Amino acid sequence: MRTTTTGTFAAIALAAGLGLVHVEAQAPSGTVDSHVAAALAAAGQDHLGLFNRLCQPEPALTAPTAATTTSAPPRPPGPPAKSTWETAAVKVFDNLYFVGEKEYSAWAVTTSDGIIILDTIFEYSVDSQIVGGLKKLGLDPTTIKYALVSHGHRDHSGGAQFLQDSFKTRVLLSAADWDMLEKNTRDPSKPKRDLVVTDGQVLTLGDQQLTFYITPGHTMGTVSTIVPVFDRGTRHVAAAWGGTAFNFPHSKERFQIYIDSARRFRDIVAKTGADVLIANHTIFDGSKTKLPAMATRQAGDPHPYVIGTDSVRRYLKVAEECAIAGMMRLP
Ligand SMILES: [Zn+2]
Repeated sequence: MRTTTTGTFAAIALAAGLGLVHVEAQAPSGTVDSHVAAALAAAGQDHLGLFNRLCQPEPALTAPTAATTTSAPPRPPGPPAKSTWETAAVKVFDNLYFVGEKEYSAWAVTTSDGIIILDTIFEYSVDSQIVGGLKKLGLDPTTIKYALVSHGHRDHSGGAQFLQDSFKTRVLLSAADWDMLEKNTRDPSKPKRDLVVTDGQVLTLGDQQLTFYITPGHTMGTVSTIVPVFDRGTRHVAAAWGGTAFNFPHSKERFQIYIDSARRFRDIVAKTGADVLIANHTIFDGSKTKLPAMATRQAGDPHPYVIGTDSVRRYLKVAEECAIAGMMRLP
C-alpha cells in the first residue's frame, strides 16, 4: 500500500514536471541506433561535420580510455598564440562577410546604415579579426551599430564589450542569456547588459531586416537568426542555428527542449525559404572548405553557401535526431 501511494505521488510529480517543459507525452520511438541512422541519412554528404560532432556518445558517458585518462600538458596562461586562430576575412555575399577565426565564426551584415555583427568571438581576437577584417575588406568598423550574440558563451560573447567600448555598438542577447552572463564570474570580458532579444523580433537597420528566434537548448536563451543575403544581386535567405553542441549530457529535459527547438527552427527555415546555412563554428557549415572556395569562384559558378532549403532543413534534422539518440542513451 505504502509503495502504491509513493508511486502515485511520483507519477503526479512527474506529470507536473513534464507539463512545465512541454515534454511530449510519449517517449520517442525507435532505438539509439535507428535515430543515429536517421541522422546519418539526413546528413547526406553535406552535413557530416555536424553528424560526427553530435551523434557520438558523450565521452563522459562511456568508459574511460587511456587517451581520456592521460592528462594533456596544461596550456600556458593568457590567450592562445595568434597563429592558432588567425585567418583571413572573406566576402561571402554582397551584404555578408566572414570576420571570424579558424574555428569560431563571426559574420558582418552590411546595410545602407551601418554594420550588424553576428557573434563577437573572443576578447583576444575581436580587434584582429572583426575590426581588422572589416578594414581589410574596405569596410568601416566604426559603423558597427549592433552585435547579436547568439548565446552567452565566451567564444561568441567575449568580444562584445570591446565593440561597446570602441564603437558604442548596441549588443543584443536574450533575457535568459543576459542573466546567465551576469552570473558568470570566469569570463575575462563580458558585455554590459543592453538590448534584450525576444522571439520573432525583427531588427531593421537601413535596408536590411534580421529576424531572431529564441531556440533554447544549447543555452536556455540561444538565439537563431534569419538573414536575407544577396549573391551578385540575387536574393537568398540565410539561417543561423544559434547553439549546436549538447553541453548538457545528463539532462533529458534539456535534450527535449533542444529537440523541440530544432523542429521549430526547421519549420521556420521552410516558411522563410532559407537556402543558405551559416554557423558560428566553422566546422559545422563547411566554412573550412567554402571560405577558401570563395576566392577562386568564377562568374557563373554556383555559390558554395547556397545549399537549398532541403539541405538547411536536413541540417536541423541531423541536430534533432542526434539529440533524440543522446537523450535515449541516458539511463
Ligand atoms: Zn556555446
